[in-house]
Amino acid sequence: MSSRAQQPSQIWDAALGELQLQVDRTAFETWFKKTDGVALNDGEFVVGTETAFISEMLTKRMSQIVERAVGHVLGEPTSVRFQVLAHADNPSNGQSDDGQPSNADDTSAAGYGDDSQAVPVANATPSNLTTAPFARAPSLNARYTFDRFVVGKSNELAHAAARAVAENPGDAYNPLMLYSEVGLGKTHLMHAIGHQALGKGIDVRYTTAEDFTNEYIRAIHAGTTEEFRLRYRSAGMLLLDDIQFLIGKEQTQEGFFHTFNSLYMSNVQIVITSDRPAHSLKILSERISSRLSSGLSADIQPPDYETRMAILIAKSRQLSVEVSGEVLELLGARIYSNIRELEGSLNRVVAYSDLMQRPLDVELARQIIADTQEANKRRQPSEREVIDAVSKHFGVDTDTLRGPKRDKKTALARQVAMYILREDADMGATAIARALGRKDHSTVLHGCKTIEREQNINSNLRRSILEVRESLAAA
Ligand code: ADP
Ligand code: MG
Repeated sequence: MSSRAQQPSQIWDAALGELQLQVDRTAFETWFKKTDGVALNDGEFVVGTETAFISEMLTKRMSQIVERAVGHVLGEPTSVRFQVLAHADNPSNGQSDDGQPSNADDTSAAGYGDDSQAVPVANATPSNLTTAPFARAPSLNARYTFDRFVVGKSNELAHAAARAVAENPGDAYNPLMLYSEVGLGKTHLMHAIGHQALGKGIDVRYTTAEDFTNEYIRAIHAGTTEEFRLRYRSAGMLLLDDIQFLIGKEQTQEGFFHTFNSLYMSNVQIVITSDRPAHSLKILSERISSRLSSGLSADIQPPDYETRMAILIAKSRQLSVEVSGEVLELLGARIYSNIRELEGSLNRVVAYSDLMQRPLDVELARQIIADTQEANKRRQPSEREVIDAVSKHFGVDTDTLRGPKRDKKTALARQVAMYILREDADMGATAIARALGRKDHSTVLHGCKTIEREQNINSNLRRSILEVRESLAAA
């Protein structure tokens, strides 16, 4: 939208605002002081830095939180690259990944003080393995605490399980597996467990399955798999995020299984998250999946309206801005399937109002929601295309869809067609009624409402809608 022609430097300013809350002051001053937003191309945001060394350190230590912050501002996942600003190039520091471990350590000591929890630790690269075997502070996000986790029907089981595990690690449920679609709070709960365990002096190891894999592969190349194992085996708690990443990586699975097993045998608490249910992780080696099923698997569903509102209210308090109930209600009603997006939409409304000096009102919120949905939207499909795609997906022919039959399958397919025609083909209820051979537009309104409500709680339905939309996008 035109009022949103943001400059990279404005985007970066908004992201810095968020980063400032997450990184302690010294680190912020050290790493972010003379940075600037340089460019945004195709989902990649480029940040300019003063020296190659700073670029390198930011890449190693901060890319995760920086990507998250920029993603929040832009409202979509964005990758971030750090690059030395042309005028400030400083060739005295090598850019190679294996560069100067001692240098890195000095700076990190100066830069992080003891409040380093908000800062992802550097990956253990072969070059710094010897000097820093495993950074002690795990990369837990300081904001992901139990205090800040809003509990509702959709997540109360997972929350209770996480609490139990945090209170009695190794005792309550081992392993604990948290499962949900993206953006629903798995990582948040996992970090909350980690914070509480750290508070008890437990040696917590947090890693994503992706980092684990990279680390393991590096260890294999460097011939240091023994150190690698020892490092993990001395853990007092293991948090492994996004285990689905291990699917298809047999060698890493093997490494993980051994680590897992020895920890499990010594009653060390293990927590795992996954974006798919335990049973579909069967593709992991049999040994891992049977281990997983010996613990507790708790899933998180998309939040209902009440929970969404509670989350928005909590987040706006955290941002210390006054957001009207009307604006919150609008966001809560329109963004329902992903808490990250819900949060992102609020951040964006606040950031734009600030950047553009516009009142934080319903009009702005509408514009931003429309814009986000616009960005997600592909070409508008025609009436015909929607009906054909739905008919194909549900195996109900188009005449039946338009006819009088009302069995469950036909009725569902028809309602999905109504919903997609309204949402994606921008048709009104009367036109939709006509297209589907219904007499009355109130049938259409009812159908759309049903789907809207159902998809909040029914993941099969959500998947169906997604698949129909994908087939329309591919058409
Ligand atoms: P996942 O790991 O399932 O993809 P995250 O844990 O990263 O999701 O959550 C996405 C965002 O939503 C995070 O910023 C997180 O703090 C927030 N969030 C998720 N669930 C809740 C909740 N119940 N209360 C408050 N914030 C939440
Ligand atoms: Mg996650």
